[in-house]
Amino acid sequence: MDLKITKVSKEKKKVIPVFDANLGFGRIFSDHMFIMEHVDGEWINPRIEPYHDIALSPSAMVFHYGQGIFEGMKAYKRDGELYLFRPQKNLERMNNSANRLVMPNFDKEFVLDAIKKLVCLESEWIPDTKGYALYIRPTMIATETCLGVRPSNRYLFYVIVGPVGPYYSKGFNPVDIFVSDQYVRAVRGGVGEAKAMGNYAASLLAQKEGQKHGCSQVLWLDGVERKYVEEVGAMNIFAYFKEELVTPMLSGSILPGITRDSVIKITKEWGMKVSERLLPIDELINGISSGKVTEVFGVGTAAVISPVGKLVYKGENYQIADGKTGQLSKKLFDYITSLQIGLQKDTLGFVEKIDFRF
Ligand SMILES: *Cc1c(COP(=O)(O)O)cnc(C)c1O
Repeated sequence: MDLKITKVSKEKKKVIPVFDANLGFGRIFSDHMFIMEHVDGEWINPRIEPYHDIALSPSAMVFHYGQGIFEGMKAYKRDGELYLFRPQKNLERMNNSANRLVMPNFDKEFVLDAIKKLVCLESEWIPDTKGYALYIRPTMIATETCLGVRPSNRYLFYVIVGPVGPYYSKGFNPVDIFVSDQYVRAVRGGVGEAKAMGNYAASLLAQKEGQKHGCSQVLWLDGVERKYVEEVGAMNIFAYFKEELVTPMLSGSILPGITRDSVIKITKEWGMKVSERLLPIDELINGISSGKVTEVFGVGTAAVISPVGKLVYKGENYQIADGKTGQLSKKLFDYITSLQIGLQKDTLGFVEKIDFRF
């Protein structure tokens, strides 16, 4: 497959925004996108072209049956160099998501190459301020026009990119979390392991419930017993019990986060005791109350590390330690964010410098 590149005309170039606190997250997109179609069992016509709207029939299957998946990754810039963080992992996970939703796989090497070309083409759109990055959103949707519950025969794959600031506009501060014991995000055997679009629609009501209690994110319990901690918002979760860093083991309903995997590998390399195991909500709550749990934090590409200040569970508030950002959260945040811009010795081989230019 040949990648065709059509650049936007000078007159149609958008104005690149100032990369400051007003930038926000996920609202601005660059001048170009990558796109290809899947027809008759193969991917065709891969191209980078000016960012544009997509016209689809109202009967396109994605609009009815939700056969759609996505990924989220970032490109970073420092001193004119461009970096990606474990990008193969995102593409591997996207193919896994595709398998779960009976959508076609793609050639990871080809798509990674296309993403690198897109990132290079948009290098002016990449902020080089720490905490800022170019967010990359690969997406795949079912486009066959048919009302009928079965896998689509046509798909669209595209990648859009845009500059983003820190995920939380208020900065690296603890967030309050509502423990949802009514609604669940996913169940074992379901699609929680996949970055499937419908999962996020399904999470909104609990999020709204949490907001009523002054919480910006939801802590999800397992869908069967509502007894075990699974995730927090669209992030994986860690709890630091003195001496033991605990994260729920991948059970089938938890999204296998790349930041989660990176935090496990990094803290193990630091010589810490790290456990992937069942984490009962009662154990967490008791640990917080007794002072044994000194830190709780969410991890994901968007926020990197997101410290938790307190949990709201069954109408009670549980403040974690002094409610401030803990030392381990801070250390991990600093370490990973400097690693991502090539400022740390990359002992685990996580960082990929993009070494071609247009
Ligand atoms: C994307 C996502 C994560 C975090 O994954 P990363 O690869 O670390 O960005 C965690 N949980 C859910 C539900 C997600 O959608």
